[in-house]
Amino acid sequence: SGTLYIVPTPIGNLGDISARALEVLAAVDVIAAEDTRHTRKLLNHFGIGTKAVSLHAHNENQRSAQMLSYLDNGQSLALVSDAGTPLISDPGYPLVTAVRQAGFEVIALPGPCAAITALSAAGLATDRFCFEGFLPAKKAGRIEALQTLAAESRTMVFYESPRRVLDTLAAIAEVFGESRQLVVAKELTKRFETFISGTSAEVIAWFQAEQERQQGEMVVMVAGATKEQDQGFEQALQLANKLQPLMP
Ligand code: SAM
Repeated sequence: SGTLYIVPTPIGNLGDISARALEVLAAVDVIAAEDTRHTRKLLNHFGIGTKAVSLHAHNENQRSAQMLSYLDNGQSLALVSDAGTPLISDPGYPLVTAVRQAGFEVIALPGPCAAITALSAAGLATDRFCFEGFLPAKKAGRIEALQTLAAESRTMVFYESPRRVLDTLAAIAEVFGESRQLVVAKELTKRFETFISGTSAEVIAWFQAEQERQQGEMVVMVAGATKEQDQGFEQALQLANKLQPLMP
């Protein structure tokens, strides 16, 4: 009682729900869900009747206070998002902070997460990586965010929406160069799961070949800069600075 459980849910394949996740979802008093209708379908599928209340990006600050009152009354809560691990590019950060500050226990269940699933099968270095979530939606912001990562030597992991994937790949090619290796993991755990790997130019060509290829959920992973690429970038920058006074 008085505990908040963080419960990951499937990212496409219902078989990926864990036995423990089902146990917790059935046992708690209330489930805080990003979208209650979406979560209700999942719960119905597994015959779970627990009450669900909404907690999403637009109400999570106010809702957190209400959740604390449940915990105060000795009730237990589970937090779920539409798919994958809550708080990973999903709501829940204000709630977890508030619950911890109030001195209640927070217990996280391990489970599906698109970033980790993608990374584990991509064939890029995994000894060190950084999770960058979603890039800014506007072009200038996206380029700027990528520029701050130009010398990053760890594998970079991004979430992306199908609508913007080509723009993002173009920005990656522009900032990191056309020969940088990248991998896009599409529709993970689903019927048409696909990994596309190659240089940024090759991956862009694959997506451009058929428009349908741009559909579906995807994780974009970029190999970290090698020392040479980093030096190449520095040299290019120095050259550009030298040439600038000569430009018309
Ligand atoms: N909390 C989730 C998690 O743990 O992975 C991520 C939620 S975020 C709002 C949604 C993004 O995750 C999508 O735009 C996509 O980048 C990625 N994603 C989710 N499910 C995926 C799947 N089945 N295959 C590939 N990417 C997926």
